[in-house]
Amino acid sequence: LESHNAPRESLGPRLVKGALFTYVRPEPAKEPELLAVSQAALRDIGLGEGAEKTEEFKDVVSGNKILGWSGETGEGIYPWAQCYGGFQFGSWAGQLGDGRAISLFEATNPITNVRYEIQLKGAGKTPYSRFADGKAVLRSSIREFIVSEALHALSIPTTRALSLTLLPHSKVQRERLEPGAIVTRFAESWLRIGTFDILRARGDRGLIRKLSTYVAENVFGGWGNLPAKLTADQNGADDTTRGVPERDIEGNPGEEENRFARLYREIVRRNAKTVAAWQAYAFTNGVLNTDNTSLYGLSIDFGPFAFLDNFDPNYTPNHDDHMLRYSYRNQTTIIWWNLVRLGESLAELFGAGSRVDDEEFIEKGVQENNTDELIKRAEGIISRAGEEYKAVFLAEYKRLLTARLGLKTQKHSDFQQLFSELLDTMSALELDFHHFFRKLSSVKLVELESENGREEVAGRFFHREGPSGIGITEKSARKRVGDWLAAWRARALEDWGENKDSEREIAMKAVNPKFILRSWILDELIQRVERRGEREILHRVLNMALHPFNEEWAGDREEEERFCGDVPRLQRAMQCSCSS
Ligand code: AMP
Ligand code: MG
Ligand code: MG
Repeated sequence: LESHNAPRESLGPRLVKGALFTYVRPEPAKEPELLAVSQAALRDIGLGEGAEKTEEFKDVVSGNKILGWSGETGEGIYPWAQCYGGFQFGSWAGQLGDGRAISLFEATNPITNVRYEIQLKGAGKTPYSRFADGKAVLRSSIREFIVSEALHALSIPTTRALSLTLLPHSKVQRERLEPGAIVTRFAESWLRIGTFDILRARGDRGLIRKLSTYVAENVFGGWGNLPAKLTADQNGADDTTRGVPERDIEGNPGEEENRFARLYREIVRRNAKTVAAWQAYAFTNGVLNTDNTSLYGLSIDFGPFAFLDNFDPNYTPNHDDHMLRYSYRNQTTIIWWNLVRLGESLAELFGAGSRVDDEEFIEKGVQENNTDELIKRAEGIISRAGEEYKAVFLAEYKRLLTARLGLKTQKHSDFQQLFSELLDTMSALELDFHHFFRKLSSVKLVELESENGREEVAGRFFHREGPSGIGITEKSARKRVGDWLAAWRARALEDWGENKDSEREIAMKAVNPKFILRSWILDELIQRVERRGEREILHRVLNMALHPFNEEWAGDREEEERFCGDVPRLQRAMQCSCSS
């Protein structure tokens, strides 16, 4: 892909033309303190245990050493910042780009063969910093560091975080002066829908085509890995339609689907699955702009994110999101809105262009194509991809909720009678979403035989202060949960038979976390690290986030139970401002 050169001395915000990244080096840091390292991340990028103990590791993750670059010969790998644009809160925001993230190099894990792009967030200005300072505060760095690893541990596709470094000499001006920090993060790809948005805004048709080819061949590993054409009776929900190799790019007669349409569908499918996982685990990103929507389908760019406490579909973690655009309820729709922007960027490629080579394509220009025909075709592809998005989302969402409810089979009636009824009940009674599933895991089916038994069990799901919700009495709350438990018991019996409580409990606890990285825990953690200079607590919370399904963690038992217990009443559903 095209690059743009910016010597350090002449760095400043600028509009970049004809390029998708700029070479730029991180700012050197004085006396950095390595606060925490994720052992899971260390392993996943292919570094051995103890690798984080070397001086070199610290130098690299604080931006003081450029690995693989020789200053003497001027050869090797030089760090870069990516250029992208974005639609923010629905409006075109122009050029954005990595304003404080700088990629260092790519590395392939020799065992898994997965390649990652490793980058520093908070290591200084880039040409994409606009009016900002290129820095990240400790508070938001702690949040991003741990949540990346927490999502990963829940099997939710996400960018990862390797380390957290405090910059003791960096004071960052936000509402107040705050300590600065760097998160080392990595991902299979940092490309976003915004990467295509910026090219479309520039009208750079050649680079759109080049980037599409790069994504298919380099990020997804080849055209043959993309989904094949759907037959008329497939709705796309299952994955069996992928892996069919491209027959002939030059244009076999026959029915081979346009390859850029297949690329689009791959991106659509990945995002559908990721949103399904967010919904099934009640995670909200909080700023789902197109620049924060990954082409690889990863959870990415963690600002005012949150896990829900009580189940409230209208909750948004973003204090400035007055329209609730990025609320829990809207995430599925908003990701589709973003994907339509991507479809528009790719639209021309869905047309005649895919059968000609790059140069011919660029020369030809849109005017030579039949525009009406082209628009009609693109609309058809985008709208069919929309159906596929729905189907893939629903299949994944059902799969996850079925497992969370401890069921082995899916029945058509489950959606209404178990899923919807449960979510409506949780929302009406203001029940804690995560506690519900974990506590349900340990319920014994005999406890649910009588109405009395069910109403007794129902009480376990209430907050300490009892059930809440408008017009709800304790009695009606117990009755409502009890009725749901009766329906659930019938299905659990059907799937497991009698006396299988302990097997079911094990299966359920493997998908229903005891620990969730809630906002109030992050707040306490930040206070203790920043104000009281504590360090151990970071490792303890990270360890809980990395093993969320454990019953205990060999740390401070009392603290662990407090973090896993009822959320303090005034700290439920907290919101966060965007400044970070
Ligand atoms: P976000 O809303 O956090 O995804 O950020 C939107 C854009 O603002 C991205 O291009 C960021 O790189 C950029 N940005 C956010 N904070 C800063 C900062 N402190 N310095 C430079 N760029 C920033
Ligand atoms: Mg962002
Ligand atoms: Mg951000």
